[in-house]
Amino acid sequence: MKLFSPDRVIFEPRALDYPLGQKIHDYFEGTSTEIIIAPLQKVSSFIPGTTDGQKYAGGKKTLVVTVKRSLKFDVCKPSADFEFSLVTGCPASCEYCYLYTTQSSKPYLRTYVNLEEIFDSIKKHIARNADRLTIFEVASAGDPLAIEHITGSLARTIEFFGALDNARLRVVTKFSNIEPLLGLKHNGRTRFRVSINSRYVIETFEHNTASFDERIEAASKLAAAGYPIGFIVAPIMVYDRWKEEYLELFDELRRRLDTVKSAEPVTFELIQHRFTPAAKKVIMERFPDTLLDMDENKRTLKWGKFGRYKYVYPRKDAVEIREYLTSLIEEKFPDARIEYFT
Ligand code: SF4
Repeated sequence: MKLFSPDRVIFEPRALDYPLGQKIHDYFEGTSTEIIIAPLQKVSSFIPGTTDGQKYAGGKKTLVVTVKRSLKFDVCKPSADFEFSLVTGCPASCEYCYLYTTQSSKPYLRTYVNLEEIFDSIKKHIARNADRLTIFEVASAGDPLAIEHITGSLARTIEFFGALDNARLRVVTKFSNIEPLLGLKHNGRTRFRVSINSRYVIETFEHNTASFDERIEAASKLAAAGYPIGFIVAPIMVYDRWKEEYLELFDELRRRLDTVKSAEPVTFELIQHRFTPAAKKVIMERFPDTLLDMDENKRTLKWGKFGRYKYVYPRKDAVEIREYLTSLIEEKFPDARIEYFT
């Protein structure tokens, strides 16, 4: 997998007051990446593009180095108690990306340099939870592993959690550059979930991510390094050969994880493909030739909060997906835990 290299990196002036801001500046100095120092309000003006496609591509090649201001974390159900971010956005281009409707037309990446303040806030959230174990998700607004070679922030966060008795960290990724994380003192307190799918879904829709084989290889190395491991199988899609291909996926996971002995069960989170009308509109603008199946006539409406709705597979298909994947997991990973199916 080729490591991400932005066309331009934009530093908010305050970010350079932090050691991590300086470290990132040093990383890019003398490289072909353009270095810009500018306030956040001006970021958009430095990203080129007139058409939707150009603006999108320009955003994906821009890294903004900034300071995280809001340190009050949101609740993050069902996978954790709270979520926080080291990074917002990601350099990949999955056609179905769940972030599209919350991003601007130039979806640039942000990385936050005030790690010590973020760590202080984590400690405060833990203290409020008394003696209960508090679980934090670090990848719900972006993929920190995608730029770990630039920031090193995820490694520091994993070691920070490694020293905390009453908290756990959860990471999810579609990248595979895990080598620098293998020797960390994680103390089994970070669960890595590798976002995985059938070959067809990865190769057709998940551009600029690690391949099917690279992700499974990364998962097996993380497990061998003692990290609790999980898989997010998402978005699960029904297409001509879906059963054969999901069987191949679980066969391959079993084969590569067979020799790894972990104290903690492997976990699986299963999420069917769904889409909202707003997401479909953005996807059709950015990927006009997409092969994503977004035919409303083949779906059922599912209503959420505030009168919002999404299109999901009809009940008959959903039951078939759940039963089929559950049977594969029970057969290949009898000790695994299925966290949820949605
Ligand atoms: S890796 Fe995740 S965040 Fe990045 S484009 Fe794909 S779905 Fe979106």
